[in-house]
Amino acid sequence: MDVILTGDRPTGKLHLGHYVGSLKRRVEMQNSGKYEKIYIMIADAQALTDNADDINKVRNNISEVALDYLSCGLNPEKSTIFIQSQIPELCELSFYYMNLVTVSRLQRNPTVKNEIQMRGFKQSIPVGFFTYPISQAADITAFKANLVPVGEDQLPMIEQTREIVRSFNTLYDGVLVEPTAVLPENSTCSRLPGLDGAAKMSKSLGNCIYLSDSSNDIKKKIQSMFTDPTHLRVEDPGHTENNPVFIYLDAFCRDEHFAAFLPSYKNLEEMKEHYRRGGLGDGTVKKFLNEILQSELKPIREKREMLSGDLGQVFAMLKKGSEHAREIAAQTLDEVKSAMGINYYKGNGFCKR
Ligand code: ATP
Ligand code: MG
Repeated sequence: MDVILTGDRPTGKLHLGHYVGSLKRRVEMQNSGKYEKIYIMIADAQALTDNADDINKVRNNISEVALDYLSCGLNPEKSTIFIQSQIPELCELSFYYMNLVTVSRLQRNPTVKNEIQMRGFKQSIPVGFFTYPISQAADITAFKANLVPVGEDQLPMIEQTREIVRSFNTLYDGVLVEPTAVLPENSTCSRLPGLDGAAKMSKSLGNCIYLSDSSNDIKKKIQSMFTDPTHLRVEDPGHTENNPVFIYLDAFCRDEHFAAFLPSYKNLEEMKEHYRRGGLGDGTVKKFLNEILQSELKPIREKREMLSGDLGQVFAMLKKGSEHAREIAAQTLDEVKSAMGINYYKGNGFCKR
């Protein structure tokens, strides 16, 4: 049976990109009952690789991310939710995996390259940040996860993990499991663009609608969204491709939304055709998007408000999850060290392999 691991960096509250790119899928997978184990990691240690000077940001966002998880329907009875830094075994695994990866291989990782540029590191890249694909390999392999639901930006990371697993299993005993990335079925959801039209909605870029945003904030953010710059008057023909408002509709809109909020169209294709022909104003499209997002986010926000009244319970849940995760990671580390022949004092004593 399949084992799943995914996670998020506690660098801010979770946004719509996380929701459609990964969170929604995780909840469906959890509730399907088809998976042996589901591990959800709050990647605080990874967040510190580019936030070492802002521990409070990372600390404070651990509970925010946990609240986002619980309010979207992740259930600690069914999924193990844990905090990365509480599992020191992950550091030990990373340390051994570092010997299986070259500097030039890390330099070629397109996500790392892009993030280095985005964060303006230039020549001052923290070593921890540069090597985070290796620590992700430790996270995934520690739990023997074979499926990793992620957004598209994470594909190079999963590839890096697969290479590490193959090297390890070839050099030593084959105890590690090679994972596969699971992308959202709807390709728009693999990389939801930002409100500003940037390629990715991202906490670091500040172009997000957060799951915890108030109803009013959501409305204001949608009103200020970019649309088609050539669509100046309502009568003008417009473009639906590369138009963030329509991209969001691709990600969220279902036929029943038309019946509920805009019965003059049957489906999104009909609405898009009208926009392309001319005669459909951006205001109407945005109003429709607003109705959809409000209906999707209202129950999440309400549950979040309720749960945030008892943070003690949230932290207790994370502690329990972390203790369980640590047991599993310790077992894997033990197998890894035996496979490498460095479990010197185990079993038959020093030097017997
Ligand atoms: P940061 O800017 O701090 O890196 P982020 O917004 O990229 O934050 P992460 O915590 O790095 O968020 O990503 C967690 C998961 O969410 C990953 O699987 C990632 O692929 C997915 N994800 C993040 N942003 C998007 C997006 N805009 N569309 C689809 N998936 C996304
Ligand atoms: Mg990211």
